Amino acid sequence: MLASELAFAVETVRSAVRIGRQVQGAIAPGRWDKDDRTPVTVADLTVQAVVSGALHERFPDDPLMAEEGSRELREPAWAELLAQVTEHVRLVRADRPESSTILDWIERGQQAIDPAKRYWVLDPVDGTKGFLRKEQYAIALALVERGEILLGVLACPNLPAVLDRVGASQASGMGQLYAAVRGNGAERIDLKAGDAIAARSPLRVSPNSDPALARWCERVESSDRNHDLTAQVVERVGIRAAPDRLDSQAKYAVVARGESSLYLRHSLNPTYREKVWDHAAGVLVTEEAGGRVTDVFGRPLDFSRGRELAGNRGIVATNGLFHERVLEAVREVLKHLTKES
Ligand code: AMP
Ligand code: MG
Repeated sequence: MLASELAFAVETVRSAVRIGRQVQGAIAPGRWDKDDRTPVTVADLTVQAVVSGALHERFPDDPLMAEEGSRELREPAWAELLAQVTEHVRLVRADRPESSTILDWIERGQQAIDPAKRYWVLDPVDGTKGFLRKEQYAIALALVERGEILLGVLACPNLPAVLDRVGASQASGMGQLYAAVRGNGAERIDLKAGDAIAARSPLRVSPNSDPALARWCERVESSDRNHDLTAQVVERVGIRAAPDRLDSQAKYAVVARGESSLYLRHSLNPTYREKVWDHAAGVLVTEEAGGRVTDVFGRPLDFSRGRELAGNRGIVATNGLFHERVLEAVREVLKHLTKES
């Protein structure tokens, strides 16, 4: 049951969490210029290099689909950034790889994928805006074969142990990993100081089917129009709670651990397609915790179409008990919208 792949993914994502903390920790308080994206770029590229390098050594025949590439980083203008990435890679790799090796590891994320074979999917820093705000971000690694997600490991380094209403997006505690193997359930792995494993426990979605008691979550960085749409949908379902707005696949984690009954995502931009790495790990964790995930039209997510979910629009992830009601509400709200325009 993919025991060695699971152990590998947990260990590798744990080292990626250390990178995230290193980069955030290296920034002096108050010195973070809001328009400077360098810290998240360093974290993104360092995580992709380290995960890709480890994967290349451990499963040399498995290709990688990952968000970042190395083309810009090879240009002389980006030498300073490459030096920073190299320095951060060397903090977690005692063998002190050369910059040229690091560039090659990063570039492996852009290789051509044969969808009939198995391959890994990585979002090195999901929720870059959340990372910059020191709020929620995730590191997401999944194993996919013929469009089926076989394994998913999701790290949420800043997610509080319990999501409280007031500080939903504030960092506290040491964060958690969420791991699932298809057909084998999902588990939560709490981290302690040094990002060592503190405890492992089974994950289960909420058994609640009463909309009046349900919480729901959605993106932070969505347009007002999209937020207005999701608000109309949940109102039709009878959910009264205000949304928990979280960056990254942390939204799947809060559904999987039973705190939220619904994660709703839709873009009114008709050309936007969801990216595979933004969902693969979180979807499997949610499903294996007993939840259900489809697109907003109720279609199964099709992970066999390359780097995008080309056959899908938006996301509905629920504890299973709200799913049909949410799909019905989406249909009605979208119908009204089309009539208006
Ligand atoms: P979230 O943290 O849930 O807001 O998701 C972050 C991810 O959303 C990024 O990694 C992007 O791949 C993706 N994204 C970027 N633009 C859009 C958009 N217009 N609609 C939906 N997702 C987007
Ligand atoms: Mg992402």
